[in-house]
Amino acid sequence: MHPQLQQLVALQDMMGMIREIEEKGSELEDMGFKTAGLDDLKNAREELEGKIDPQVMGLFRRLTGKFGRAVVPVIGNSCTGCFALIPASFVSKTNAGRLQYCESCGRILYWP
Ligand SMILES: [Zn+2]
Repeated sequence: MHPQLQQLVALQDMMGMIREIEEKGSELEDMGFKTAGLDDLKNAREELEGKIDPQVMGLFRRLTGKFGRAVVPVIGNSCTGCFALIPASFVSKTNAGRLQYCESCGRILYWP
């Protein structure tokens, strides 16, 4: 997988975890779970963001704001964000040298 893409997928997962903890934090604490890991997660997120190309990071933030998930897997030759078919010419270049974007919705694609 493209290293930058790998970082974006990891970042998206991390952001999801942070959001979940922030939303359910008090609820979880009431149930006896500790949410002390939140600061560690945020630090790790910052570190990861620093490694990603600022231009890509800007796009990632815009897409996240618009769709919730900026990076989506391609399953059965379809973008799982908007279900548009991905041209076969894309598929041969998968994950290799550069980032691929869905022509229909603009999300960043990866092949799981
Ligand atoms: Zn799409």
